[in-house]
Amino acid sequence: MENKNNFDYLLADLTKLNGVGKKTMETLKKKKVNNIFDLLWRLPKSYTDRTFITKTCDLLVGKVQTVRVVALKYQFPRVRNLPNRVNCFDSTGKIDCIFFNSHEGYIRKILPLNEEVTINGKVSSYKGRYQITNPTYVSLDSSIIETVENKYSLTEGITEKTYNKIINQILKNLPILNEWHDKEILKNFDNESWNDAIVKLHDPTNIENYKASFYKRLAYDEILASFLVNSEIRKKIKKIKKISKKFTKKPFIDITNKLDFNLTKDQLASLEEINKDLNSKSKMFRLLQGDVGSGKTIVCLISALNVISSGFQVALMAPTEILARQHYALAKKLFPKNLSIELLSSKSENIEKKRIVKELENNEINMVFGTHAIFQKKIIFSNLGYIIIDEQHKFGVRQRKLLSDKGGNNCDVLLMSATPIPRTLTMSVYGDMDVSIIREKPSNRKEVKTYSKLESKIDDVIKFVKKEIKEGNQIFWVCPLIEESKKIDHQSSVNKYKTLSELFPNNVALLHGKIDNEEKEKILNKFLNKEYAILVSTTIIEVGIDFPNANVIIIENANKFGLSQLHQLRGRVGRGTKQASCILMFKTNLTINAKKRINILKNSNDGFEISEEDMKLRGFGDLLGFKQSGVKNFRLADPIQNEDLFVMAEKQIRKIELENSNIDKYKPLLKLYDQADIINDIV
Ligand code: ADP
Ligand code: MG
Repeated sequence: MENKNNFDYLLADLTKLNGVGKKTMETLKKKKVNNIFDLLWRLPKSYTDRTFITKTCDLLVGKVQTVRVVALKYQFPRVRNLPNRVNCFDSTGKIDCIFFNSHEGYIRKILPLNEEVTINGKVSSYKGRYQITNPTYVSLDSSIIETVENKYSLTEGITEKTYNKIINQILKNLPILNEWHDKEILKNFDNESWNDAIVKLHDPTNIENYKASFYKRLAYDEILASFLVNSEIRKKIKKIKKISKKFTKKPFIDITNKLDFNLTKDQLASLEEINKDLNSKSKMFRLLQGDVGSGKTIVCLISALNVISSGFQVALMAPTEILARQHYALAKKLFPKNLSIELLSSKSENIEKKRIVKELENNEINMVFGTHAIFQKKIIFSNLGYIIIDEQHKFGVRQRKLLSDKGGNNCDVLLMSATPIPRTLTMSVYGDMDVSIIREKPSNRKEVKTYSKLESKIDDVIKFVKKEIKEGNQIFWVCPLIEESKKIDHQSSVNKYKTLSELFPNNVALLHGKIDNEEKEKILNKFLNKEYAILVSTTIIEVGIDFPNANVIIIENANKFGLSQLHQLRGRVGRGTKQASCILMFKTNLTINAKKRINILKNSNDGFEISEEDMKLRGFGDLLGFKQSGVKNFRLADPIQNEDLFVMAEKQIRKIELENSNIDKYKPLLKLYDQADIINDIV
């Protein structure tokens, strides 16, 4: 196949390859290899060197070796089940080739008498004679065999030989792509072209050569592609024209007068950024990122009131009803009484729901709170100007884009997330949005004191809990993920509930994944109303809910959690002004590594810093929420090893944005690396 300038070759179906049939294609598809391009990233793990020819007198039994011999005599027994045999020799000795299941004709063809053939295979010994059974290679053209062959982590049903044939075929036919990088960028990679780099990637002598220019170039390609797609989506959203929102300082003053604290500098700065976007003539698509307890809610509520005062409706969506209710209650408290704000709850009477739906459509409601239910089809806003979405870090780029489209052109969008991510990843995870960050915690906060305790010291913990309860504080008791199995986790929380109930009668509540939403909410509400002192739960303690009175969190089997996750859990307490504590319990003494991890948590209360460290220790894939978020994993690039490349790509994106450069030359890059539909949408 001649493909030198055929870009589409890379995106072609595997059956376009010689030697790949339907079966092989299906096998590879199961491994998420859908086209030729995907195959390029399955890298060789090691290689077999067949360049060395062994004389028959030097053969070693049990080893795979290559010999160059002449066939002397065939032995084709007429008895079934006996193998065919070919006696061969070289100048130093003899060896037999044994064939099970091969026809006479075929053997005569590949091993003609009196001609020199090269044979490769595992050498054994039988009745004092060397033999190779079912040789891997037999060829008259020794150059085919005497090569170095890569070993890939093989897929069942595909032999190494076939696999190498396929890869070599692809490498030979790689289309020559026009360079997409600027000259200055390419200099950083020794001007390595994409084609050369790909060939080098499969060169056995380059295995694990992560520091080499070709490798870095390919990693950079991948990073830039992911950043660029997001940047294009962002640009596209920013181009959407809207009616700008006009408001005065009054809503801000009204609300802040009702607060018994001052907003932090970061809260004010974020609000300023949001206001500016609301005022502008283009659509806002912004992320408000801030650690747990950094005070995002108040920022979004002030901005909501600004939008309402400019004559638009606002919708706030929370991941759970209880959180929606909490935000609603706060707005009720802070907003002027003449406004109409509503909670659309699954529990409301049907009549009530119908009334809200009707009033939203008639522009009689200024702001509605709820779960995703507020975006059902039947709900029509007459004048929606602002969507706020709380705690939806699990939304991927695509879902966010859909959401932004849903609101219509005049609708600004604010997402809030308490999941800090390492800086290197911001562009690939949130690059489609503008980002405001609240780093600073309210000044009245005392840092949560973090302790580790062995499970055998449970009596000390109980003593501590008793003391806290006496002081009127509440406690979260998080039961561990013992196994990956929900059933066992469930059992462990039930058992814990029983033991604690004996110690603290009528003062313990239990929450686990099997309890339905309605019941769950009842329990949480009771806990909020201080009807129980202890809440035993699996890790499902709601994100975002403000429990000002909960002061202690105990996390069992803490080594089962990532640092970011522990930090999130810890963030459930310490929202009031009292000193809060987090007790991490362990089954056995900590290893040095585990100690290091826990010390990071003890010494830092900064979610961003913790997420950086967590990533360094556990790798990117395990970071909280990432697996679910649909953020794609990189093939070569590693956010830890290639931090410099991430920084370089970010700079390049900023440059492209600033100079408003035409990105046509990057189109092949985007098409190859992000074969997502979204490309059609943006490019
Ligand atoms: P999150 O950013 O995790 O959503 P919240 O908005 O729920 O945090 O705020 C957590 C708690 O901090 C709330 O009780 C809120 O009233 C309080 N809070 C918010 N801003 C400040 C501030 N500037 N000073 C003191 N307390 C604040
Ligand atoms: Mg929140």
